[in-house]
Amino acid sequence: MIALSLAEVAQAVGASLPPGADGSATVTGVTLDSRAVAAGDLFVAVAGERVDGHDFLHAAAAAGAVAALTTRPGGPLPALVVDDTVAGLGRLAALVHARLAAAGLLTVGITGSSGKTSTKDLLGQVLAAAGPTVSPPGSYNNDIGLPLTVLSADGDSRFLVLEMGARGVGHIARLCAVARPDVGVVLNVGSAHLGEFGSAEVIAQAKGELVEALPEAGTAVLNADDPRVAAMAGRTRARVVTTGRGGDADVRATGVTLDDGARARFTLVASGEEHPVVLQVVGEHQVANALSAAAAALAAGMSPAAVADALSEAEPRSRWRMEVTRRPDGVTVVNDAYNANPESMRAALAALAGLPAGRRVAVLGGMAELGAGAVAEHERLGRDAVAAGVDLLVAVGPDAVGMVTGATAAGARHGEGSGSDAGTRVESVPDRAAALDLLSEVLVPGDVVLVKASRSNGLEVLAADLLTAG
Ligand code: ATP
Ligand code: MG
Repeated sequence: MIALSLAEVAQAVGASLPPGADGSATVTGVTLDSRAVAAGDLFVAVAGERVDGHDFLHAAAAAGAVAALTTRPGGPLPALVVDDTVAGLGRLAALVHARLAAAGLLTVGITGSSGKTSTKDLLGQVLAAAGPTVSPPGSYNNDIGLPLTVLSADGDSRFLVLEMGARGVGHIARLCAVARPDVGVVLNVGSAHLGEFGSAEVIAQAKGELVEALPEAGTAVLNADDPRVAAMAGRTRARVVTTGRGGDADVRATGVTLDDGARARFTLVASGEEHPVVLQVVGEHQVANALSAAAAALAAGMSPAAVADALSEAEPRSRWRMEVTRRPDGVTVVNDAYNANPESMRAALAALAGLPAGRRVAVLGGMAELGAGAVAEHERLGRDAVAAGVDLLVAVGPDAVGMVTGATAAGARHGEGSGSDAGTRVESVPDRAAALDLLSEVLVPGDVVLVKASRSNGLEVLAADLLTAG
């Protein structure tokens, strides 16, 4: 973070300096976690669902915090009092971002229903080949994570890559007010959080706020293969660059194949040049993410050759996304348990179908926040699993039961049954423990096991258990 005086911080967040506080004291960092406070930090007290940061002011003071951003006066630290500390954090980040942008920092914002973190991780590594880049692993895409990411930049940073998530209309606009991007990337409009948004049209409305926020001198990177994203070209003043698999896209992939059924190899076509790319990350869906990252890096001034080289070097960085691990006994576990929605489930099933395997096992939990269409979506996924050639589908938990109905309707055998082993067998288990019991019985060397569900299911624990069980 760039160093600020306490007086500057108070002004940015919209608080007055408390009596007796030293406005010239230097703030060198910001944290919400009292256990992570370093000397010189501003401690931001946020009331969460389980804990209230206001209960940890003494711990923050003991660890060397300079001041606290709080909703109430008093306490062991100089208190900068605001109505809403998260909004105050955003205002502080906005001040810092404006200064860094004026000094030449280039900011890329990435949104979409699926693939934001994956694309951020690719782009962060590509831009790092051209200059100091801020792009932390993980999914810091909300009103807390995004300002903290902005604040982690400093005067040496040349590129800032921000993930922007939305659970409603106006959210992306708010994030863009904290850090207005120079380059805005929209990946896709799917059904993540459909229950909260109501319709795909509203999701498109919300995601498109990113390109509306771009300046005229900026660049909108739009996925031409998603019609709702392509239509956002009409909502921006910025230059539009399209990405896709089709011949019309400005930045495109031709000749896509999968090495070992896992990692995509293709020719990157951009600016009249062609360069080979071999991705390190797993799944054909990463081609779209890589093209978006490539277009953003080109907009940031990199050459197509440098982009292709850096894309081919970029490694998986955030946990629980298509982590492929082979157990000593020859069973392979694919941990994609970070999150799930219908599109990302299908992308993962397609990746599973491509992997060389004795048998393909999909251990899938429920997809949350789908609203009225939830049951139908789970049934459809059950049918998709059968169509993807899954040998054993294990539906984990009550929300996933619809998958059994769908799979059975598509011809899967429910339970061990008798007769032929061909086709899909589908099982329903109540929880992770039951899934582990079942899998411990049935897995044999050569099996490849995909583990995936919405975040709330915590199936990454099952994936870890499966690895130690082998
Ligand atoms: P979140 O909204 O939870 O932060 P995200 O948009 O950051 O999600 P990632 O974490 O990159 O998305 O990927 C989540 C899952 O989506 C991955 O595990 C993968 O299965 C799938 N995925 C990634 N990219 C795509 C894509 N372009 N299209 C469809 N599915 C994708
Ligand atoms: Mg994410």
